[in-house]
Amino acid sequence: MNSLTRRKFIQHTSATAAGGWLAARARADDDGPESGAGNLHLAPFRFDVTPPTGHSLCGGWIKPVVDVDDSLEAIGFVLQGAGLPIVLCAVDWTGLLNEAHVSWRQALAEAAGTTPDRVAVQCVHQHNAPFACLDAERMVAEQGDLPHIVDVDFFRRCLDRGRTAIEQAARKSRPVTHVAHGQAMVDKVASNRRVYRDELGHVKAMRGSACSNEELRALPEGRIDPWLKTVAFYDGQQKIAACHYYATHPMSYYGDGRVTSDFAGLARKQRQVDEPDCQHIYFTGCAGNIAAGKYNDGSHEMRPILTQRVYDGMLLAEENLQPRSIETLEWRTANLLPPPRNTLAADALRDQIADKSNSVVNRNRPSYMLSWLERVERQTPIVLSALHIGDISLLHLPAECFIQYQLRAQQMQPSRLVATAAYGDGGPWYIPVNDEYPHGGYEVGVAFCDPQVDTMLGEGMRKLLA
Ligand SMILES: [Zn+2]
Repeated sequence: MNSLTRRKFIQHTSATAAGGWLAARARADDDGPESGAGNLHLAPFRFDVTPPTGHSLCGGWIKPVVDVDDSLEAIGFVLQGAGLPIVLCAVDWTGLLNEAHVSWRQALAEAAGTTPDRVAVQCVHQHNAPFACLDAERMVAEQGDLPHIVDVDFFRRCLDRGRTAIEQAARKSRPVTHVAHGQAMVDKVASNRRVYRDELGHVKAMRGSACSNEELRALPEGRIDPWLKTVAFYDGQQKIAACHYYATHPMSYYGDGRVTSDFAGLARKQRQVDEPDCQHIYFTGCAGNIAAGKYNDGSHEMRPILTQRVYDGMLLAEENLQPRSIETLEWRTANLLPPPRNTLAADALRDQIADKSNSVVNRNRPSYMLSWLERVERQTPIVLSALHIGDISLLHLPAECFIQYQLRAQQMQPSRLVATAAYGDGGPWYIPVNDEYPHGGYEVGVAFCDPQVDTMLGEGMRKLLA
């Protein structure tokens, strides 16, 4: 892919812009002298993705929606003026897997006048939220007696809202002249889930999002990435978008049927209230083995406390922002198609799904596994992507990657700020690092890829970041 100077932005846009976007840009160019400095534009969009009453949450094995504590949103922006438009979007859902993830990228791409490989859709991963896999939904629907994984009509309505939001965003397009980054350590939120081990290193119990066991909470924090990173975009002096990145499962408690964006989403919503003219977006990093368990006993009082800690991290990270003019911008992609675990066998999975004596989770979960097997057979790759702007890299990874991947990504480019958003295409579920497979535990038990995913994902990251 090309590295574009500001001069080239202008040449590229005139060649590639879609009609609505072209008109919007022409208006913006008439607005003031600063837009003459370049032709990079940012159009923020947001749309509601709150599921209706009765909708399945987390794939159907926890209580379905009884009420909404606060809404779920898809929030992003279209970046235009560097070749075909680029779309970044964060969604308050547990996951978007396989065909569901492809459908989102296609719909947003069509609306923005670009190609799906220039669209990154990343979930925040709350659990009182939809966990959408259309392939798995077809499998459980065939059974007739299982709770739906996702209501397909609702899913389509969300995509319609997305298309409309992007089309309308063209009118709100603003020039982008500067970018800045900052980071701050978040206090007492993230902790490693896999700290309780025997002398051989095998994981004996998971310290989950909420942990009522005092002994587990007393164990060390373990390996985490304590940094909340913020990347902000400016129109001259004015901050128009701020992307926040932090790696933890974002739940304080769940399973009560009350939809919520939970502490990460609530912190983001508070920043949005503070600054209505800036689009605040929160991305969850590589949190496969990270949750708030050490600091969260799951009591309801903890949700506002964890919200405040993430919010404080955002404020501190934003204190360090020093806008610099944008000189270079580059979008890169790499395809990834890791082979499934050899323990997954299609016939056995079909039997598990059909076995009415199994619990819902032990029938719906195999449908996600079978969806992954069939997707690999169809050879539909996962698309990894990175947006490089000056000395900043925004990295988009799939599924529930272990924290080691984002630490590695930062080490690959120590002189740049590398901000990682995981939970893109959720098809593979957990993505442990190779060393952790022999140590077992919950995450390894529901990792759908062969351990060679570690090497393959590492190669993909190197391609994107080199
Ligand atoms: Zn998870």
